[in-house]
Amino acid sequence: MHEMSLAESMIEIVEAEAASQGFSKVRTVVLELGALGHVDPQAMLFCFDAVCRGTIAEGAGLEIVTVPGTAWCMDCGKPVAIAARYDPCPDCGGHQLQMTAGTELRIRELVVD
Ligand SMILES: [Zn+2]
Repeated sequence: MHEMSLAESMIEIVEAEAASQGFSKVRTVVLELGALGHVDPQAMLFCFDAVCRGTIAEGAGLEIVTVPGTAWCMDCGKPVAIAARYDPCPDCGGHQLQMTAGTELRIRELVVD
């Protein structure tokens, strides 16, 4: 389950932020998660809870904001929405797509005391 190591690196970022900004308690972590990535939100929530114990983020909530998948279709010459990696273009059915959004995994916001 690679979500565990992702959650661990998230906590490292949160603790580094706490050190530089001087807060001592985290209430909520808002995480951007791309719909085309390989991260299962449910597993992420579970792992986040587990790795928070004993850290500054103990008891904090994790709010996951899903970023929809977007690709640039070379045939249509415009951005299109895709539901999965390697999906064809919904407009022309072509495969000349370049993913432009949907694999994000980053902390958008920290709600702190
Ligand atoms: Zn197209």
